[in-house]
Amino acid sequence: MGNNIFLCSICNINSGTCNEDCKFCSQSVRYKADIARYKQKPIEEIIKEAKSARDSGALGFCLVTADKGLNEKSLEFVCNTARILTKETPELRLIACNGTATKEQLLTLKKAGIKAYNHNLETSREFYPQICTTHSWDERFETCQNVNEAGLVLISGGIFGLGESHEERISMLKALELLNPTSVPINFYHHNEALELKPNSLSVNEALELIKLTRKLVPNAMRIMVAGGRELMFGDRQSEIFANGANSIVIGDYLTTSGRAKSRDLEMLKSLNLTIAKSV
Ligand code: SF4
Repeated sequence: MGNNIFLCSICNINSGTCNEDCKFCSQSVRYKADIARYKQKPIEEIIKEAKSARDSGALGFCLVTADKGLNEKSLEFVCNTARILTKETPELRLIACNGTATKEQLLTLKKAGIKAYNHNLETSREFYPQICTTHSWDERFETCQNVNEAGLVLISGGIFGLGESHEERISMLKALELLNPTSVPINFYHHNEALELKPNSLSVNEALELIKLTRKLVPNAMRIMVAGGRELMFGDRQSEIFANGANSIVIGDYLTTSGRAKSRDLEMLKSLNLTIAKSV
């Protein structure tokens, strides 16, 4: 593990409007979770969030849309947003996370200033039909291949604690290794009572072991990022994630849940003598 920690911030520029049935996702319209739902976040608000992320030391800023994939309208919205942020916050490295995407769509994003694309495999190919029936794992894998072919930086990981077996976790990590992502975000399922999945039953020690396992099975990834569910999963043992192989975190709020104050994460890094990455 290096001492340089990459900080990323995520911005839900469209929220809670997805028709897919991913069982872990409160943004699906099917489960009626009590979350904010809107089509397009106002650009002023996005710029404000981007500036706040930059001022807190984030290098990555991820534009997320809640939908199965891009369509003409959402592609235009993400591209416009990327062009504006490139001018307003040139220090930030723009990432898009917009579901399944063709190579052509990805090239359009790239032209608009997007540097990396995040598309998670979520879980293993074997377990996927148990958590989603409206699209296939193979489609997800294909989008990741498209990202590589389009020459964008691939960010791909998954979620632990959905009820998958240990073998299924290994299977997902092996599939990720084949895709050779630069960054692997790992999420820990954060239960929402509107969802039918059972709460995540992982212990803190098991979760730390999973970070280690990710590092071991995806050894060429520059970054292992602990993303959603960090506070809930690790509580007052969050600082241990770094000794177990993580070198990147999401700061600020998540897509539908609140993160802790950015200042607390910055204090944690300082107390561990870890520095914040200023470049990739
Ligand atoms: S496709 Fe994405 S936004 Fe839609 S339900 Fe699945 S995880 Fe949620």
